[in-house]
Amino acid sequence: MAIQNNVQKVRARIEETSARAAQKKQVKLIGVTKSVSTDIARQLLEEGVEALGENRPEGLLEKQKEIGRDACEWHFIGSLQTRKVRQVINAIDYLHSLDRIGLAEEIEKRANEPVKCFVQVNVSGEESKHGIHPEDIHSFLHEVGQYPKVQVVGLMTMAPLTDDEQTIREVFRSLRQLRDEVQERHYAHAPCTELSMGMSGDFETAIEEGATFVRIGTVLVEA
Ligand SMILES: *Cc1c(COP(=O)(O)O)cnc(C)c1O
Repeated sequence: MAIQNNVQKVRARIEETSARAAQKKQVKLIGVTKSVSTDIARQLLEEGVEALGENRPEGLLEKQKEIGRDACEWHFIGSLQTRKVRQVINAIDYLHSLDRIGLAEEIEKRANEPVKCFVQVNVSGEESKHGIHPEDIHSFLHEVGQYPKVQVVGLMTMAPLTDDEQTIREVFRSLRQLRDEVQERHYAHAPCTELSMGMSGDFETAIEEGATFVRIGTVLVEA
C-alpha cells in the first residue's frame, strides 16, 4: 500500500508542477532503488513506474537478474569506475554519469550498441561532486565525438547540499542554459535534448527549471 500511495503522490506532484511550469515535454520518472530490495523495485513496476535507477553495478545486475532485462528501462546513475564498464554497459539503457574521456573510451570498447549518456556537470563547484566543469563542456563534447557508441542525450547534475531553494534553483537553471547552448551547436553525436536533474527533495524545483528526467528514491520507496 505504501508504495502505491507514494507513486500516486509523486506522479500527482510531477503532473501538477509540469502543468504549472508549462513544461511541454513529458517528465520521465526514474525510481531509484539503490537502498531497497528487489521486491520493492518490483512493486514500483507494478504501479506503472517504467524506469529504475541504481548507482552500483552489483545492485543493478542483481535486481536485473530477478526482474528481467526487458521488464523496464535501466538507468545507471552513480559514478562508474572504468574497470566496471564491461560488467554493466550492455545491461543499461541510460548512463547518467559520463564525466571523463577515459570513460567514453572504455564504453566505445565494451558496448555492443550506442549507449544513451548524460554528461554529468559539476555546476555547483563543490569539490565532493563528480562532473566536468561547465566551461569545459564544448571541448569535452568535441572529444566525445570520436566515440560513436557514446550518444549524448543530455546533461545531468546534482544539486548542492543546502536547504536554500534559491541556490538549488540557480544550479538547475545554469544546467538548462548550458544544455540550450549545446543544443544550438547541433552536434550530431550530442543532440542533448534532455535534462536529468531533481531528486526527492528538489524535483519540483528541477521541473520548474526544465528537468525532463527526475531521479527519485526516498519519497517513492519509504514505508
Ligand atoms: C540516490 C540518488 C538519487 C535519489 O535520491 P533521493 O533523495 O533518495 O530521491 C538520485 N540521483 C542520484 C545520482 C543518487 O545517487
